[in-house]
Amino acid sequence: MRLRFPLRRPNRLVGAMLIVTLSLSAQSALGAGPALAAPAGTATGPLGAAFNTAAARYDVPRDLLVALGYAETRLDGHGGAPSASGGYGLMHLTSNPTVHTLDEAATLTGLDRRALRTDTSANITGAAAVLRSYADRAGLTKADRKDVNRWYGSVVRYGGATNPSVARLYADTVYDLLAAGFTAARGGTVTVAGRPVTPQRGDLARVAALGTGGVGTMSTDYGPAAWAPAYSGNYTVANRPTDYPINYVVIHVTQGSYAGSISWFQNPSAKVSAHYTFRSSDGAVTQSVREKDIAWHAGNWTYNTQSIGIEHEGYVNEPSWYTDAMYRASAALTRNIANKYGIPKDRTHIIGHIEVPGATHTDPGPYWNWTYYMQLVNGVTGIGSGTVNTGGGTLNVRSGPGTNYAVVGSVAHGATVSIYCQAIGTSVTGTYGTSNIWNRIGTNQYVSDAYVLTGYSGFIPNVPRC
Ligand SMILES: [Zn+2]
Repeated sequence: MRLRFPLRRPNRLVGAMLIVTLSLSAQSALGAGPALAAPAGTATGPLGAAFNTAAARYDVPRDLLVALGYAETRLDGHGGAPSASGGYGLMHLTSNPTVHTLDEAATLTGLDRRALRTDTSANITGAAAVLRSYADRAGLTKADRKDVNRWYGSVVRYGGATNPSVARLYADTVYDLLAAGFTAARGGTVTVAGRPVTPQRGDLARVAALGTGGVGTMSTDYGPAAWAPAYSGNYTVANRPTDYPINYVVIHVTQGSYAGSISWFQNPSAKVSAHYTFRSSDGAVTQSVREKDIAWHAGNWTYNTQSIGIEHEGYVNEPSWYTDAMYRASAALTRNIANKYGIPKDRTHIIGHIEVPGATHTDPGPYWNWTYYMQLVNGVTGIGSGTVNTGGGTLNVRSGPGTNYAVVGSVAHGATVSIYCQAIGTSVTGTYGTSNIWNRIGTNQYVSDAYVLTGYSGFIPNVPRC
């Protein structure tokens, strides 16, 4: 199966060091069995090498290092540009008035700050050095350091959250990734195999994780939201909509992680806040400012006074953060707010930060799918279905609408799939001819329409565009 396809140049999304097996697997929409999946716990390419080297040098578990970076940035260094809270590189080495991991890394490694901010290997080395220094101060022995569960306190310290629930959220995110396992394709692939984890949380074991602690930790404005109030100096107390009308919802992207953003709003040096922040992986939401109060998010006082600001975990240059789970959860909140305050559900009133007059930010950026989001806000929920016909073999499920995306699973010949939305992607020639339509059959799960019988030669009527 694989040998039928000629080798081509590696695709641009995953870089020039892509391994040959992935290059081969990227050529077809048809599955070729589990042999194409990256083996557990492996790394290829320069990124994997950088993690292996840094982990060995500072005796930090490699998978812990990778999981922390994945939680922070999905392993994207953003060309050295800072996050909203002053974090740099794929490991989010931070320089702000309360978190100094960048400075600590410079001291520990002797590397200069510019390299630590912009060079991938230096950035990972710096993070490993900082984590190791925390482990040493916590008294971890050489034997202790082999056990990822003993690094919990060091991870908490690295995140720098001051609120115990948010600190626990930050570190639990890393351990949840270690438990579930994941593969990142970026300059090669880095895979962390899932495993049972029993993190030693210390004092934080007695602290409720955000959103699970019952009375006082949940929002009183919006039932599904956890409550983690922003620092009082980062927003303006008001009595909306009595003193100011609420006319807009402003959509943002955090330029930082979920836990990191919630933590930043609690930091007295931030001077920014938003009402709500959504998590990419599952659409979980935390409220930081009451809807009656004025969050500082739009960079425009008139719009701040008249709007609800909603943040979404991610970075504007990286579409993988924009999951269906987050779109759906966010749209449900925007719908709730629009109904509550009588805001029209249109693009004049539900706007991006970039559309605020005088905006200096570009979020939510070019990958935010406004068409899909507004369909969800307005309750367009048509779902189609189709039958997979490969002539016998399995059909690859990919993380995005194209053969250049990672294979994340497969569906059998003859299976019926639900189609949540349809997107234009790479052209594939299959059972039903050549098509560039891809069907989204789950969160970050797409199959080529060339192998799916839907009853329509093009888009299915009433199924939203992704
Ligand atoms: Zn913004």
